[in-house]
Amino acid sequence: MNRPSTIAIDGPAASGKSTLAHALANKLGYLYLDTGVMYRAVTLAALRSGIDLADEPALTRLAETVEIDVVAPTVADGRDCTIYLDGEDVTLGLREAEVDAGVSIPSAYAGVRQALSQKQRRIGERRRVVMAGRDIGTVVMPDADLKIYLDASAEARARRRWLELQAGNRSDSYDDILAGVRRRDEIDSRRAVAPLRPADDAIILDTTEMDAPAVLDYVMGLVGIAGDDTEA
Ligand code: C5P
Repeated sequence: MNRPSTIAIDGPAASGKSTLAHALANKLGYLYLDTGVMYRAVTLAALRSGIDLADEPALTRLAETVEIDVVAPTVADGRDCTIYLDGEDVTLGLREAEVDAGVSIPSAYAGVRQALSQKQRRIGERRRVVMAGRDIGTVVMPDADLKIYLDASAEARARRRWLELQAGNRSDSYDDILAGVRRRDEIDSRRAVAPLRPADDAIILDTTEMDAPAVLDYVMGLVGIAGDDTEA
């Protein structure tokens, strides 16, 4: 079996996409791209400039003009990558509660999606990439060699996010996180453009009862290599 060169990983908020995609890319020596950071970067740029998230034309212009760079980690603080917004390291800012709460609004705008999908598609064309998001298998890389859709109960996902935030010294309550996860799922799945859904040929994996190493092992099996075989 030929090893897949383009791998799409989609799924709802906090389903473990980023953890899986990052680990998989490391094992394979591929580029890892978390497309969520691009939507977060546009949201953060709008919040900072006082642009109303409901202003679709302004958000579209912002998505078309803002410069977003995703590079290997520049600081050893547990981050998967460093994200620059117009040259400034905004990696930590992208995880702020205000961005979490607002990001699904601009993500529903056709113009914003078009601008960001185009950037993502260009990166995908270079191949040897693991891309994580909501519409990678359906819209950005519909011809990806392997498509995975990760799912888990909202409670399991909120608990994972809560543990992650606790580790980062944030004291958000579990109930608030669960409500936020549900609200984002609702908007992401119901939007008219590129809604969250598995591609017809995606492999759907429910990770409610699985930990991250078990998910990685399973997917490494799909890729055609044992968990500890790192040869590219
Ligand atoms: O993956 P993450 O939770 O960081 O994504 C943040 C938000 O960005 C999602 O809730 C969704 O609204 C949007 N998003 C998207 N399409 C993608 C990736 C993220 O609409 N491919």
